[in-house]
Amino acid sequence: MDSSALLQRYKSVCESIPAHVTLVAVSKFQPVEALQTIYTAGQRVFGENRVQELVEKKPQLPDDIQWHCIGTLQTNKVKYIAPFVSLIHSIDSFKLLAEVDKQARKNNRVIECLLEMFIAQEESKHGLTEQEAEEILTTASALTNVKIVGLMGMATNTADAEHIRKEFRELSAFYKKLEKQHNFKYLSMGMSGDYKIAIEEGSNMVRVGSSIFKG
Ligand SMILES: *Cc1c(COP(=O)(O)O)cnc(C)c1O
Repeated sequence: MDSSALLQRYKSVCESIPAHVTLVAVSKFQPVEALQTIYTAGQRVFGENRVQELVEKKPQLPDDIQWHCIGTLQTNKVKYIAPFVSLIHSIDSFKLLAEVDKQARKNNRVIECLLEMFIAQEESKHGLTEQEAEEILTTASALTNVKIVGLMGMATNTADAEHIRKEFRELSAFYKKLEKQHNFKYLSMGMSGDYKIAIEEGSNMVRVGSSIFKG
Protein backbone atom coordinates (compact mmCIF):
# COMPACT_ATOMS: atom_id res chain seq x y z
CA MET A 1 0.00 0.00 0.00
CA ASP A 2 1.26 3.45 -0.93
CA SER A 3 0.49 5.44 2.19
CA SER A 4 1.56 8.79 0.80
CA ALA A 5 -0.90 8.49 -2.10
CA LEU A 6 -3.59 7.44 0.40
CA LEU A 7 -2.84 10.45 2.59
CA GLN A 8 -2.96 12.72 -0.43
CA ARG A 9 -6.40 11.43 -1.43
CA TYR A 10 -7.63 11.64 2.16
CA LYS A 11 -6.44 15.23 2.42
CA SER A 12 -8.08 16.27 -0.79
CA VAL A 13 -11.40 14.68 0.25
CA CYS A 14 -11.17 16.50 3.62
CA GLU A 15 -10.54 19.78 1.87
CA SER A 16 -13.62 19.30 -0.29
CA ILE A 17 -15.91 18.93 2.73
CA PRO A 18 -17.13 21.93 4.74
CA ALA A 19 -16.53 21.95 8.50
CA HIS A 20 -20.17 21.31 9.46
CA VAL A 21 -20.19 18.02 7.52
CA THR A 22 -18.98 14.83 9.20
CA LEU A 23 -16.84 12.59 7.03
CA VAL A 24 -17.44 8.89 7.58
CA ALA A 25 -14.47 7.10 6.04
CA VAL A 26 -15.95 3.94 4.54
CA SER A 27 -13.24 1.39 5.12
CA LYS A 28 -14.92 -1.83 4.01
CA PHE A 29 -12.50 -4.33 2.44
CA GLN A 30 -9.55 -2.13 3.47
CA PRO A 31 -6.71 -3.55 5.56
CA VAL A 32 -6.32 -2.13 9.08
CA GLU A 33 -3.03 -0.49 7.99
CA ALA A 34 -4.98 1.77 5.64
CA LEU A 35 -7.35 2.76 8.43
CA GLN A 36 -4.39 3.36 10.74
CA THR A 37 -2.81 5.64 8.14
CA ILE A 38 -5.73 8.03 7.97
CA TYR A 39 -6.33 7.70 11.72
CA THR A 40 -2.85 9.10 12.20
CA ALA A 41 -3.82 11.98 9.92
CA GLY A 42 -6.80 12.73 12.17
CA GLN A 43 -9.72 10.59 10.97
CA ARG A 44 -11.84 9.26 13.83
CA VAL A 45 -15.11 8.17 12.19
CA PHE A 46 -15.08 4.93 10.21
CA GLY A 47 -17.96 3.15 8.51
CA GLU A 48 -18.20 -0.54 7.69
CA ASN A 49 -21.06 -2.36 6.07
CA ARG A 50 -20.44 -5.86 7.38
CA VAL A 51 -20.75 -6.84 11.04
CA GLN A 52 -17.92 -9.35 10.82
CA GLU A 53 -15.51 -6.74 9.52
CA LEU A 54 -16.52 -4.25 12.20
CA VAL A 55 -15.96 -6.81 14.92
CA GLU A 56 -12.60 -7.89 13.51
CA LYS A 57 -11.17 -4.41 12.96
CA LYS A 58 -12.34 -2.70 16.15
CA PRO A 59 -9.83 -4.40 18.55
CA GLN A 60 -6.93 -3.81 16.17
CA LEU A 61 -7.32 -0.04 16.11
CA PRO A 62 -7.32 2.77 18.68
CA ASP A 63 -10.21 3.02 21.15
CA ASP A 64 -11.23 6.56 20.30
CA ILE A 65 -12.49 5.57 16.85
CA GLN A 66 -16.22 5.98 16.33
CA TRP A 67 -17.46 2.95 14.43
CA HIS A 68 -20.51 3.37 12.24
CA CYS A 69 -22.52 0.49 10.82
CA ILE A 70 -23.69 1.64 7.39
CA GLY A 71 -24.80 -1.55 5.65
CA THR A 72 -27.81 -3.82 5.82
CA LEU A 73 -27.96 -5.21 9.33
CA GLN A 74 -29.49 -8.55 10.22
CA THR A 75 -31.35 -8.74 13.50
CA ASN A 76 -29.35 -11.74 14.69
CA LYS A 77 -26.05 -9.87 14.29
CA VAL A 78 -26.92 -6.77 16.32
CA LYS A 79 -25.55 -8.32 19.50
CA TYR A 80 -22.00 -8.37 18.12
CA ILE A 81 -21.81 -4.62 17.52
CA ALA A 82 -24.03 -3.39 20.37
CA PRO A 83 -21.13 -3.12 22.86
CA PHE A 84 -19.29 -0.49 20.83
CA VAL A 85 -21.03 0.80 17.70
CA SER A 86 -21.50 4.56 17.79
CA LEU A 87 -24.07 5.07 15.02
CA ILE A 88 -26.19 2.65 12.98
CA HIS A 89 -27.18 4.23 9.63
CA SER A 90 -29.31 1.39 8.36
CA ILE A 91 -32.45 0.94 10.44
CA ASP A 92 -35.03 -0.32 7.96
CA SER A 93 -37.67 -1.86 10.20
CA PHE A 94 -39.15 -1.50 13.66
CA LYS A 95 -38.13 -5.08 14.37
CA LEU A 96 -34.48 -4.20 13.83
CA LEU A 97 -34.76 -1.06 15.95
CA ALA A 98 -36.37 -3.05 18.78
CA GLU A 99 -33.49 -5.53 18.68
CA VAL A 100 -30.93 -2.70 18.82
CA ASP A 101 -32.83 -1.35 21.84
CA LYS A 102 -32.74 -4.75 23.55
CA GLN A 103 -29.03 -5.30 22.91
CA ALA A 104 -28.17 -1.72 23.88
CA ARG A 105 -29.95 -2.23 27.20
CA LYS A 106 -27.91 -5.38 27.87
CA ASN A 107 -24.80 -3.26 27.38
CA ASN A 108 -26.09 -0.36 29.44
CA ARG A 109 -25.93 1.91 26.44
CA VAL A 110 -28.10 4.18 24.37
CA ILE A 111 -27.31 3.58 20.70
CA GLU A 112 -27.88 6.34 18.17
CA CYS A 113 -29.54 5.26 14.93
CA LEU A 114 -30.60 6.66 11.57
CA LEU A 115 -33.61 5.53 9.60
CA GLU A 116 -32.65 4.37 6.13
CA MET A 117 -34.97 5.91 3.58
CA PHE A 118 -35.86 4.59 0.17
CA ILE A 119 -35.11 7.38 -2.30
CA ALA A 120 -33.62 5.66 -5.35
CA GLN A 121 -35.47 4.37 -8.38
CA GLU A 122 -33.79 1.01 -8.10
CA GLU A 123 -35.16 -2.30 -6.97
CA SER A 124 -31.82 -3.20 -5.45
CA LYS A 125 -31.75 -0.32 -2.99
CA HIS A 126 -34.04 -0.52 -0.06
CA GLY A 127 -35.28 1.53 2.83
CA LEU A 128 -38.39 3.02 4.36
CA THR A 129 -41.14 5.13 2.84
CA GLU A 130 -41.94 8.42 4.55
CA GLN A 131 -45.06 6.92 6.09
CA GLU A 132 -43.16 3.92 7.46
CA ALA A 133 -40.52 6.22 8.91
CA GLU A 134 -43.12 8.35 10.67
CA GLU A 135 -44.74 5.23 12.11
CA ILE A 136 -41.41 4.01 13.44
CA LEU A 137 -40.64 7.40 14.96
CA THR A 138 -43.96 7.31 16.81
CA THR A 139 -43.52 3.78 18.11
CA ALA A 140 -39.85 4.30 18.92
CA SER A 141 -40.61 6.93 21.54
CA ALA A 142 -41.35 4.04 23.91
CA LEU A 143 -37.86 2.58 23.50
CA THR A 144 -35.35 3.69 26.13
CA ASN A 145 -32.02 2.51 24.73
CA VAL A 146 -32.11 3.73 21.16
CA LYS A 147 -32.25 7.26 19.86
CA ILE A 148 -33.20 8.05 16.28
CA VAL A 149 -30.99 11.00 15.44
CA GLY A 150 -31.63 11.40 11.72
CA LEU A 151 -32.01 9.86 8.29
CA MET A 152 -29.84 8.11 5.73
CA GLY A 153 -30.41 7.64 2.04
CA MET A 154 -28.67 6.40 -1.10
CA ALA A 155 -29.37 7.94 -4.45
CA THR A 156 -29.80 6.04 -7.69
CA ASN A 157 -26.52 4.95 -9.22
CA THR A 158 -26.67 7.09 -12.34
CA ALA A 159 -24.55 9.64 -14.19
CA ASP A 160 -27.57 11.95 -14.28
CA ALA A 161 -26.60 14.55 -11.67
CA GLU A 162 -29.97 16.28 -11.80
CA HIS A 163 -31.73 13.02 -11.03
CA ILE A 164 -29.46 12.45 -8.04
CA ARG A 165 -30.04 16.03 -6.90
CA LYS A 166 -33.78 15.57 -7.04
CA GLU A 167 -33.64 12.46 -4.86
CA PHE A 168 -31.39 14.16 -2.29
CA ARG A 169 -33.62 17.24 -2.31
CA GLU A 170 -36.68 15.14 -1.47
CA LEU A 171 -34.91 13.41 1.39
CA SER A 172 -33.62 16.73 2.65
CA ALA A 173 -37.14 18.18 2.65
CA PHE A 174 -38.42 15.22 4.68
CA TYR A 175 -35.50 15.62 7.09
CA LYS A 176 -36.26 19.31 7.58
CA LYS A 177 -39.89 18.50 8.23
CA LEU A 178 -38.99 16.18 11.13
CA GLU A 179 -35.75 17.74 12.34
CA LYS A 180 -37.02 20.02 15.12
CA GLN A 181 -39.70 17.77 16.53
CA HIS A 182 -37.35 14.79 16.80
CA ASN A 183 -34.12 16.59 17.62
CA PHE A 184 -32.39 15.20 14.57
CA LYS A 185 -28.66 15.72 14.21
CA TYR A 186 -27.60 13.86 11.07
CA LEU A 187 -28.69 13.68 7.48
CA SER A 188 -26.41 10.96 6.08
CA MET A 189 -26.38 11.23 2.32
CA GLY A 190 -23.64 11.24 -0.26
CA MET A 191 -20.91 8.76 -1.28
CA SER A 192 -17.78 9.16 -3.42
CA GLY A 193 -19.69 9.77 -6.65
CA ASP A 194 -22.30 12.17 -5.33
CA TYR A 195 -21.29 13.69 -1.99
CA LYS A 196 -20.75 17.16 -3.40
CA ILE A 197 -24.33 17.26 -4.69
CA ALA A 198 -25.53 15.81 -1.38
CA ILE A 199 -23.82 18.57 0.61
CA GLU A 200 -25.33 21.21 -1.66
CA GLU A 201 -28.72 19.68 -0.89
CA GLY A 202 -28.27 19.73 2.88
CA SER A 203 -26.32 16.63 3.87
CA ASN A 204 -24.25 16.98 7.03
CA MET A 205 -22.76 13.47 7.02
CA VAL A 206 -21.12 11.87 3.99
CA ARG A 207 -19.98 8.26 3.62
CA VAL A 208 -16.92 8.22 1.40
CA GLY A 209 -14.95 5.08 0.55
CA SER A 210 -13.36 4.77 -2.88
CA SER A 211 -12.35 8.45 -3.24
CA ILE A 212 -10.19 8.00 -0.15
CA PHE A 213 -9.00 4.43 -0.42
CA LYS A 214 -8.92 3.68 -4.14
CA GLY A 215 -7.85 6.86 -5.86
C1 LIG B 1 -19.66 1.31 0.24
C2 LIG B 1 -20.66 2.26 0.77
C3 LIG B 1 -20.41 3.64 0.74
C4 LIG B 1 -19.16 4.26 0.13
O1 LIG B 1 -19.18 4.12 -1.26
P1 LIG B 1 -18.04 4.78 -2.16
O2 LIG B 1 -18.68 4.92 -3.49
O3 LIG B 1 -16.89 3.82 -2.15
O4 LIG B 1 -17.69 6.09 -1.55
C5 LIG B 1 -21.36 4.48 1.30
N1 LIG B 1 -22.49 4.00 1.86
C6 LIG B 1 -22.76 2.69 1.91
C7 LIG B 1 -24.02 2.24 2.55
C8 LIG B 1 -21.85 1.78 1.37
O5 LIG B 1 -22.13 0.46 1.42
